[in-house]
Amino acid sequence: MKHFLALILVVALALSLAACGDNNHAVLPSIPSDGSDVLETDFQKNMNQSTSTNIYCLCKTTDGYYFQFDCMLYFIDRETGDSTILCGKPDCNHVISEFNKSCNAYVYTNLLSYYNGKIYYTNSDAVLENGNYVRKGERLFSMNLDGTEHDAVQSLDFIPDGDTNNFITEPIIHRGYVYFSYSGALYTAKLGADIENATLIYGKQKTDDGSHVVDSKEQYYELWADGDLVYFMVKNIQQGNGTYKDTLFCYDPQSNQSKQIWQVPEKSEVGTWDTTGVSVSQWYISDGYIYFYLCGNDIWCTELSTEKTTKLIDLDLEAGVAAFSDKYITVINKQYNDFMSFTGELGIAGGDYLYIYDYNGKLIQEISLGQIYQDHKTAFACHIAFCDAGKVYVYVDATVSGIYSAAYSSNTVQEHYLYAVDIASGTLGDVVWSYYKKY
Ligand SMILES: [Zn+2]
Repeated sequence: MKHFLALILVVALALSLAACGDNNHAVLPSIPSDGSDVLETDFQKNMNQSTSTNIYCLCKTTDGYYFQFDCMLYFIDRETGDSTILCGKPDCNHVISEFNKSCNAYVYTNLLSYYNGKIYYTNSDAVLENGNYVRKGERLFSMNLDGTEHDAVQSLDFIPDGDTNNFITEPIIHRGYVYFSYSGALYTAKLGADIENATLIYGKQKTDDGSHVVDSKEQYYELWADGDLVYFMVKNIQQGNGTYKDTLFCYDPQSNQSKQIWQVPEKSEVGTWDTTGVSVSQWYISDGYIYFYLCGNDIWCTELSTEKTTKLIDLDLEAGVAAFSDKYITVINKQYNDFMSFTGELGIAGGDYLYIYDYNGKLIQEISLGQIYQDHKTAFACHIAFCDAGKVYVYVDATVSGIYSAAYSSNTVQEHYLYAVDIASGTLGDVVWSYYKKY
């Protein structure tokens, strides 16, 4: 069986050489398209660029933006800029406990996706059945745009809670299929279908005893889709010299074939960047090009069919974070900060300037975020949540954490804001969402 699978893979790789990344573009990169209009069944590129670990599940509809924060769903009206908790239950206090999760806004997800009139998310809860809690594993759910009618769509675990991988892959939904990882292997299944019939896209799957336990190398994925093609960046691929490298593959759902099309460049090709040199900080694919940022380095662009790499924007920042959208490349500066060092490495914090470029590499705006730090004295970091329809949504973390003190629970004050920074005028704009919680 293994040999058979391997043969299929080899044939698939050979056949797919012409299937992916082919295009006849000129040397100049084209302007990526996503549009402020909302496609009904497509992966939303603009909404999958968050550089904050507090707000990273986002999606949009024609009416507004949805996001998860602290296991709750919020909605920002595009027209008015007003935000609301997405509950709608008249007498709900939106407080979640172990025994009461009935608030409509409660989610605990790695995915937020708009698809065909519904919002999709995942959850890994246990469910009370006949007096006992039954583990259901990771499942996909849908709900109405007003937060009502949460329905289980399909399981994303072959065995409930059986996923052996410690890293999280955020699933995506694109043109009728869900793409997800289980124990280090990547799969796709029809939206709503039983995943026992899922297609294995990448990674090894042992099916000898039917339990789908895989030979896990702790690989995980960053998923993407553009037009008919699906892309997956495999993280943690071990190289011959023992280091790890991000490697990009393209999957064609029509032919069920995938192939490697890009790998994070060598330092000798592009110069040094940050501390790892093996992982791409942020990336964006459109029309056969990958645009990517290497923290502490520059913005680059590779034409995937020719593998020709060009420097798009020369940046002179000690550190930074980029977010891409259909029209703009936004970069926020960062400073290395050993106070943030949880993992033993220097963390990056701050962020007091936004640089907005177009896809010709031209600087459009340079916007100071200094006023944010003046308005909120405890603010210590700004992050780009997303950029859409002429605005950059900047998330501000002003939490005063008691983590370094003995009395964590009584010392922490959570304070968070979302600013809608206007690109055309270069102004900070309004606070469209705020959150305050004292412990
Ligand atoms: Zn509620």
